[in-house]
Amino acid sequence: MENTEHIHCLIIGSGPAGYTAAIYAARADLKPVMITGMQPGGQLTTTTEVENYPGYPEGTQGPEMMEDFRKQAERLGTEIRFGYVTAVDFSAKPHKVTVDETKTITADAIIIATGASAKWLGLPSEEKYNGFGVSACAVCDGFFFKGQDVAIVGAGDTAAEEATYLAKLCNKVYMIVRRDEFRASKAMVHRVLNTPNIEIIYNSETKEIMGDGQTVNGVKIANKLTQEERILAVTGFFVAIGHTPNTSVFKGSINLDESGYILTTPGTTKTSVEGVFAAGDVQDKIYRQAVTSAGSGCMAALDAERYLAAAHDIA
Ligand code: NDP
Repeated sequence: MENTEHIHCLIIGSGPAGYTAAIYAARADLKPVMITGMQPGGQLTTTTEVENYPGYPEGTQGPEMMEDFRKQAERLGTEIRFGYVTAVDFSAKPHKVTVDETKTITADAIIIATGASAKWLGLPSEEKYNGFGVSACAVCDGFFFKGQDVAIVGAGDTAAEEATYLAKLCNKVYMIVRRDEFRASKAMVHRVLNTPNIEIIYNSETKEIMGDGQTVNGVKIANKLTQEERILAVTGFFVAIGHTPNTSVFKGSINLDESGYILTTPGTTKTSVEGVFAAGDVQDKIYRQAVTSAGSGCMAALDAERYLAAAHDIA
């Protein structure tokens, strides 16, 4: 077929999971080719300081760290291509992937590491201060607000977990909940309700993130029942209203859970399709850390290597 190329090990996505899979796959001589996606480097390229990734004693910047990952993957022999996967066909082997709607690739093994995207409220001020007081990851950025007052929006398990995490570091945590109840599990709600420095503000929506042009200094909220507005004097604003896994292109081709995350066999990165593996946030809605993603990227490369070796033995 014209414009079709065959690749031994294809990696889709270029966050910590994709690059780590690439590093391991390249060292195992699987000749990996990576399709980066629209945001090379993934979610970490939108963060600033990263202090919790081992190996960087002084911390580093998210974009710089991903540049280091890229250089390491490339130095070891990964071919990195800018592109976006627009279709897949996993119905027969070799599996087919279409890139940028025009180019067809067939691959012996595929590692999906397309990540997840945080949901945002969609306020212009939220975008303006993103990385400068606004964050979608308390575990990543909470430390920078030690001893300060912060607010978090959301009422699911993530918001509840992040609010209690922030409460340990911060002076006060305002939790902005849009309804008069939580979505989070009873145990998590119990923990939030029993944390003295968390103040829950029900029936409220965020109107604006306020600041001096450089950093955040407040959040304007409104009670949905009374329309009464209030300004919370905070220096940090955390958004924890859920994530969307980047799996729309795989829908119907691979088993996903009810939220769209790729289902993997526990303890492995194997998906419902033989020869297709998944690593990182695309299959993990609980931990979502660069280091856990990198770890599962390593697992995916090792799983792919074993699969390819077994396939070679049979052939
Ligand atoms: P969820 O979808 O469960 O919750 C999202 C929350 O954000 C809801 O409370 C929702 O409100 C609120 N929300 C959504 N949009 C807005 C908005 N525009 N303004 C204000 N609030 C908004 O997402 P989570 O990330 O919390 O959890 C995802 C999945 O991961 C769940 O299945 C959860 O159980 C699981 N998880 C498990 C953990 C664990 O076991 N330790 C830890 C973290 C997550 P509303 O309720 O009104 O819809």
